[in-house]
Amino acid sequence: MSTLDGKIALVTGGSRGIGRAIAERLAHDGAQVVVHYGSNETAAKETVAAIEAVGGKAFALRAELGVPGDVDTVLNGLREHGVDRLDILVNNAAVNSYRTIEELTPAEFDTDFAVNVKAPFFLTQQLLPRLNDGGRIINISSGVARIALPTVISYSATKGALEVFSHTLAKHLGPRGITVNVVRPGYIATEMNAEELSDPATRERARSLSAFGEIGRPAHVADAVAFLASDDSRWVTGTIIDATGGSAL
Ligand code: NAP
Repeated sequence: MSTLDGKIALVTGGSRGIGRAIAERLAHDGAQVVVHYGSNETAAKETVAAIEAVGGKAFALRAELGVPGDVDTVLNGLREHGVDRLDILVNNAAVNSYRTIEELTPAEFDTDFAVNVKAPFFLTQQLLPRLNDGGRIINISSGVARIALPTVISYSATKGALEVFSHTLAKHLGPRGITVNVVRPGYIATEMNAEELSDPATRERARSLSAFGEIGRPAHVADAVAFLASDDSRWVTGTIIDATGGSAL
């Protein structure tokens, strides 16, 4: 029997990049996966099709996060698909303004925090009554919460906020047997950083940052998430898995 048979997982931003790898892995492990996305319906459909092609169960759910009514759109989408209980919530969707403190505008700051902090906070709040006891909340942070990267200062601050939120919530939800943990990816080649990594010098810097001398793959992060989603992690809560490939050790 697969470890997640009979479980239902919601992966925000599950249509592309790291989220897609997480969605595919959780489906492979037996969960029915809600592949959330913001606007790229083609990518979401491709992810659902890839899951179904190997016998998994998934459906796509569209909801732009970081805008008024975003959480209600998710809840309505779940209801329309007959999903009233969840076992696993992966808060993965995020944006990155790629700005230094001198460049950042208040509007960019607001967008970073609306998508990366406010949306997961209130999505979690509203899903708590629907999350089964013994459930899992897994929040995707970033190595920049540990390694100072001044070119993404606002994005980094959002990840710091998400990590403290996770730690605090873990204590609150312990009595229900719900674990709350964080996975911190390092450089992973996705569309989020495609432009940044297209510069050969930056790519080389990213490679050499890891103890393994490589840029990571989405599956590296998905594997850590799979552990936190599984029963094997039942005694692990309020912590961070640093999946940066040993960056800047
Ligand atoms: P990505 O390739 O840019 O994919 C982002 C995903 O989030 C897409 O599914 C996208 O859906 C969704 N999304 C983004 N903004 C949204 C919004 N406002 N409303 C709804 N959905 C939205 O990102 P990624 O590189 O896979 O990153 C995934 C997570 O890993 C993020 O939390 C990121 O901070 C973290 N991370 C990434 C790296 C890296 O090197 N890539 C490193 C450390 C941490 P649509 O396409 O439909 O908009």
